Order: sequence, then structure tokens, then C-alpha cells
Amino acid sequence: MRTFIANRDDYLAVQMILKGRGDHLSATCPSCPSDRPPIEPTFRCIDCFHTALCCQDCCVERHQANPLHRIQSWNGNHFQLVSLKRLGLVVQLGHPDGSTCPDPRNGPSKLIVIHTNGLHRIRLNYCGCSKSISTLTRCQHQKWEQLMRARWFPGTHIRPKTACTFQMLEQFHILTLSGKITAYDYYKGLERLTDNTGLKIPVSSSFSSDSYPQSCPILRTAIPQP
Ligand SMILES: [Zn+2]
Ligand SMILES: [Zn+2]
Ligand SMILES: [Zn+2]
Repeated sequence: MRTFIANRDDYLAVQMILKGRGDHLSATCPSCPSDRPPIEPTFRCIDCFHTALCCQDCCVERHQANPLHRIQSWNGNHFQLVSLKRLGLVVQLGHPDGSTCPDPRNGPSKLIVIHTNGLHRIRLNYCGCSKSISTLTRCQHQKWEQLMRARWFPGTHIRPKTACTFQMLEQFHILTLSGKITAYDYYKGLERLTDNTGLKIPVSSSFSSDSYPQSCPILRTAIPQP
């Protein structure tokens, strides 16, 4: 403990560096391909291991496979949270290999996905091509099935507007078995992770945090019961 106390100013200095843009600033986005005009990097991800800033296009490209990461944008003074949906990310379901769907079908204008790191507004397309035709039934996967194959549990069977990730359901299951945490308290914690001020909590017409748990069918029905 004495060693930690003796070095606390250095620890604080590193924390302050992480609050800002870091100390190895690149004037242009280091991830951009050489044929792209140089652009100032202003975005970073607090869930990716690599912490270097990048431009908006590179940020969206590198999160095609991680659409539930949390992104921060530098506004010239400090970092602000910004959603990947707002940056232009569209999640394509039905293509596990990440390939482009030649016949995408629009999903809801804002799907709310509840994950272990908070609540996310997502823009998505369902697959309408042969990629999502089942080898067993020869029928095209329905919306709920395309979500489940991405490990997102749909909130409703028809036209789902909310979903819980399998990781979130497993985390809640373990926490409630080992620590007796209630679904209400767990959900409130996720809201705090999303926005600790409580001002920018994503809600949809079928989902209101104020009236939880009455209007939150997912957490009432989808979470495995001990
Ligand atoms: Zn870039
Ligand atoms: Zn990331
Ligand atoms: Zn497709």
C-alpha cells in the first residue's frame, strides 16, 4: 500500500492522460488507407483494446463486428459519448461472415439492444437474400431468428424493437444467482452505465424505463429463472 501511495501522483497523471486525447497525437487518422484524404482523428472506443484516435469512417468500419462498443468523440475541449448509429453504422443480420447482403430489409428505425455495457440504439437491416434461408426448413429466417442467430434475444416475437444480448442474460443470471441482484437493480445499473446523468437513456415506444418492469417484457420473460 505504501508503494501505491508514494506513486499516486503518477497514477493520477496517467488517469488525466486517458481523460484527454493522450500524449502521442497524430495529426491525421493513422487507420485511413493511403488513397483517402488526410483527416483529423477525433473518435475513440472505450471498449476496444487499442486506444488510438481515428476518423469517423475508420471508427465505423472497425466496428462492423463490434456494434455494441461505446464510442467517444472529441469536441475540441473534452470527449462526449456518441452512438455508432449516429456515426452511420448499420448492422446487417443474416450474414455471419460479415458479407454484404444484396437484398437487405429495413429493420426498425431504432432497435434498443441491452448489453452488459449498457443500452444501445441500433440501426439494422435484416437479410432478404438466400444467405438466411434455413438448410433445414428451406424457409427464410424470420426476424426473431435472425436476431437470435446474432445472439440477441428478441423482446417480442413479431417486429421486435428491443433485444437482450446473450452475454447480458448470462451475466444477469450469474449475478442474480451469486449476489441475489434483482432484475430491476441490474437494469438500473445498465442505465447508469449508459448515461450516469440519466438524461440520455435510450427508450422505444415499447420500452419505458420509468414504468419498468411492467413495460419491459424481455427482462421479465427472457431472463433464465433459477
Ligand atoms: Zn481513418
Ligand atoms: Zn471498439
Ligand atoms: Zn442477405
